[in-house]
Amino acid sequence: MPSDEVLVSCADAALTFGRGPQAVVAVHGADLEIRSGDRLAVVGPSGSGKSSLLHLLAGLEQPTSGTVARAAVLGPYDIGLVFQGDSLIPALNVVENTALPLVLTDRPEGEARRCALAALALVDAADLADRLPEEISGGQAQRVAVARVLAQAPRLILADEPTGRLDHATGSHVLDALLTAAGHTGAALVVTTHDPTIAARLTVRRGMRDGRLLTPEEVP
Ligand code: ADP
Ligand code: MG
Repeated sequence: MPSDEVLVSCADAALTFGRGPQAVVAVHGADLEIRSGDRLAVVGPSGSGKSSLLHLLAGLEQPTSGTVARAAVLGPYDIGLVFQGDSLIPALNVVENTALPLVLTDRPEGEARRCALAALALVDAADLADRLPEEISGGQAQRVAVARVLAQAPRLILADEPTGRLDHATGSHVLDALLTAAGHTGAALVVTTHDPTIAARLTVRRGMRDGRLLTPEEVP
């Protein structure tokens, strides 16, 4: 794939929850192109629409108006979303959770487990492999959620506040893992954050305020 191929393109994409007087416009007409190799931080306070924008990019939500187009080369497992909240399956242990996307795409079990352990090692979580989600902390679960996406080696990594529950040093290390993995596979990486020091580590920063994606010229 060419290094600057457009993977996802949003044109005046809006997302509204509810109707009438109760309606909440989570994303106002956003224009955004994500190309392979991009390193984008979406920076904004809580409630500004960051998760909603990522869900539009991932195809989890359909735009209420405008369009979100994904390149035909992107299959469902080429997009890896690190969810902001808890997303591990309670009945599966950490390595099974991490291997799940690979098992679902018919990868042999042994190979899926090896890839999962390698991804867990990238976020210093290999020692948690046999624990259940209820036996690990919120910050550890966040690192496992990152590993699960890295194991999948997607072409587009969407990480929703992947450092939000981590102390600064651990958060920085998780971001290292995301950047390194994206560098190895040539994936695009989009990270949402409200932490300016995390945002500073991505190549491009776009602010979000009250559902509006700021233009590149507006400082986040
Ligand atoms: P952020 O990720 O920046 O905190 P969100 O995208 O989660 O922002 O939310 C943007 C706005 O959309 C907020 O006002 C939030 O309350 C609202 N919102 C998000 N998801 C839903 C939903 N499923 N139903 C109704 N309102 C929602
Ligand atoms: Mg959010």
